[in-house]
Amino acid sequence: MISKILIANRGEIALRVLRACKELGIATVAVHSTADADAMHVRLADESVCIGPPPSRDSYLNIHQIVAACEITGADAVHPGYGFLSENAKFAEILEAHDITFIGPTAEHIRIMGDKITAKKTAQELGIPVVPGSDGEVKPENALEVARKIGFPVLIKATAGGGGRGMKVARSEADLEEAVATARSEALAAFGNDAVYMEKYLGKPRHIEVQIVGDGAGNAVHLGERDCSLQRRHQKVWEEANSPALNVDQRMKIGQICAEAMKKLKYRGAGTIEFLYENGEFYFIEMNTRLQVEHPITEAITGIDLVHEQIRVASGGGLSVKQEDIVFSGHAIECRINAEDPRTFVPSPGTITHFHAPGGLGVRVDSGAYQGYRIPPYYDSLIGKLIVHGRTRVECMMRLRRVLDEFVIDGIKTTLPLFQDLINNQDIANGDYDIHWLEKHLAATSE
Ligand code: ADP
Repeated sequence: MISKILIANRGEIALRVLRACKELGIATVAVHSTADADAMHVRLADESVCIGPPPSRDSYLNIHQIVAACEITGADAVHPGYGFLSENAKFAEILEAHDITFIGPTAEHIRIMGDKITAKKTAQELGIPVVPGSDGEVKPENALEVARKIGFPVLIKATAGGGGRGMKVARSEADLEEAVATARSEALAAFGNDAVYMEKYLGKPRHIEVQIVGDGAGNAVHLGERDCSLQRRHQKVWEEANSPALNVDQRMKIGQICAEAMKKLKYRGAGTIEFLYENGEFYFIEMNTRLQVEHPITEAITGIDLVHEQIRVASGGGLSVKQEDIVFSGHAIECRINAEDPRTFVPSPGTITHFHAPGGLGVRVDSGAYQGYRIPPYYDSLIGKLIVHGRTRVECMMRLRRVLDEFVIDGIKTTLPLFQDLINNQDIANGDYDIHWLEKHLAATSE
């Protein structure tokens, strides 16, 4: 059994995990940098430990300090949240060596999914549909032969990739040599590794991802999908569950494929299998071996608390649900509220002079922000998430419109006006958008 959890994260996700621990009667330890001494997750935790100065590498990424904080407080488990150390296999191993439970998958599974080529191979072996592409790494001298076999347009991607870096499209044979060279040099600069591979380039896909949870002993369930196609610079902005593009049969089919794959893998904990979806076909792109930012929309339509499940599984208690008990009810949308200019997305740190969160049926606000809170400039700009649920997509959208009118955050710029714009857009109302829609919309509506 787990009796005290150290939350190795900050911001809204630290608060989110803390709430789950309290509901389960588990004691909590917050860790924080000197810049976050006033943060809400620090105030609400049973204990807190300052682990270093503001830069993440000296605090939230500092494994020694985090392990020391566990030893000092007697925490017997660590929840890593998302980002920071959540997909760091070494961290999982070090905790294990100290007899501290890592609330997440095994280090081996983190490693497999952390390498793009191994992940894709593993997915394919587990029966998950993947994007047609090269068989592993592609050298410049073989690029033309491989590209002809796949068929143009092709996408060159960095093996060590992340954040869309080291990715280049070649539309025809004439573009290929330069695309390969650019992708390799970008990959070298970003990841210290110039290895690249090749995939068929999909022109108008949606981003659809499946939420799974496994118990590590061969049981796993899926909790449906999320549509995260509305992105700018590969960053998700608005997410929906269910996807407006899928019917029940398609949902259950891809969900079952993912759940079966996770049973075979004996996967432990929560995970997300990400796909591009085009013309009725799913193409695996990657698996995230952690909780995702957008997990609350899945919780809204299933009523299942994913952090509770993570903690249950980590303490050996198994899953609380069987697949046949999981019922998908209604529709949910999440809007990511960033401290950013809503047009240029330039970060806007500063002090929140007024903060009023909306309420009412079907409304959830996950945020550590409050009136007088000073947003430190050192971390990512997500300050909150607005999650709205309705019995139908139409009801959900009507509710979101009402809620956006109520939400007040003054003193800084936020992405709230962007959602005011999207909620009144006909394509969004129709659920008719792909992964390029938002960038095109922003370009078309900028002066
Ligand atoms: P990263 O880890 O760098 O974020 P991903 O493989 O997750 O890389 O891809 C990031 C984004 O790039 C996807 O969400 C999609 O927008 C685009 N992308 C990736 N693979 C393809 C592909 N084969 N065709 C078209 N777009 C793609």
